[in-house]
Amino acid sequence: MSRPSVAFLGLGIMGSGMARRLLSAGFPLAVYNRNRERCAPFAEAGAFVAASPREAASRAQIILTMVADDAASRSVWLGDNGALSGAAPGSLLIDSSTLSLDWVRELETAAKQRGCHFLDAPVTGTKPHAASGELLFLVGGAAATVDMARPVFSVLGREVCHLGPVGSGTLMKLVNNFVCGVQAASFAEALSLVDAGGLDRNKAISILNGGAPGSGIFKRMSERMAANDFTPNFILRWMVKDLSYALDSASEKGVTLKTADAARTVFERAVAEGHGDEDFSAVTKIAKP
Ligand code: NAP
Repeated sequence: MSRPSVAFLGLGIMGSGMARRLLSAGFPLAVYNRNRERCAPFAEAGAFVAASPREAASRAQIILTMVADDAASRSVWLGDNGALSGAAPGSLLIDSSTLSLDWVRELETAAKQRGCHFLDAPVTGTKPHAASGELLFLVGGAAATVDMARPVFSVLGREVCHLGPVGSGTLMKLVNNFVCGVQAASFAEALSLVDAGGLDRNKAISILNGGAPGSGIFKRMSERMAANDFTPNFILRWMVKDLSYALDSASEKGVTLKTADAARTVFERAVAEGHGDEDFSAVTKIAKP
């Protein structure tokens, strides 16, 4: 089966797994990453390594980005030699990074002005799911545009959830990560109280996980603590970013997220204490308040 050509921008924890799957599935692939060292394994595996987002985009029918935040996304799409300037009218642009609603809407407008189709398609799932094609895509955009993206989504994801117009995927992702962030922060604070009260930490973790609070987040964090392994699957400081974007989108809609605000404070403290580049589960290392 002939595959559409793809440009993949952003070869971090998530992007590298996703790009490798596209390459293995036979998509003609051009890659770009700000730090060029991350491109080397892709060159060896047969991808074209572009010198700029523009060069990558100029070779592709579908341009997919997976970068850190609004600033990174703006830079790869609209910066000097940005992807939009290389995109052919009619091509499909997909941003799978977790971004703010404001920026996603601005990007949609820029894509339209260029005559391109656009989807916001953030994902749930983490590093292993990116590598094994088991992500859940939360997609905003026109139904016909979602259909254009299906050849790529079907290789990268286990499911595509089309939530409405551009911005809907992003809003759902921010709701999702707001709830994850609150759970993670509450687990960290719970452990502070367990320690301060002289309870046995392991017994407390087992009781929490065995009962109603034992969510997927609690279990993932407990496994990391048990192994004393905080190598990032999801970098802790991106949780501060996601909670901030969730708070901004809520405020735009007249909704107050008090728990998101409190959780952000807990994660900011973890960053201030030097855990920003560890896995988000390192929020459990925060010093007792
Ligand atoms: P990551 O490992 O930190 O990778 C970030 C990527 O963004 C790298 O390619 C980095 O390039 C690039 N980047 C950062 N700032 C940039 C800039 N100013 N200009 C150009 N490129 C820039 O993060 P990740 O875990 O892959 O996450 C990527 C996105 O997916 C984030 O929005 C995150 O919130 C979201 N997400 C992550 C997970 C997860 O579990 N990891 C799950 C769902 C969603 P360099 O290599 O040059 O630094």
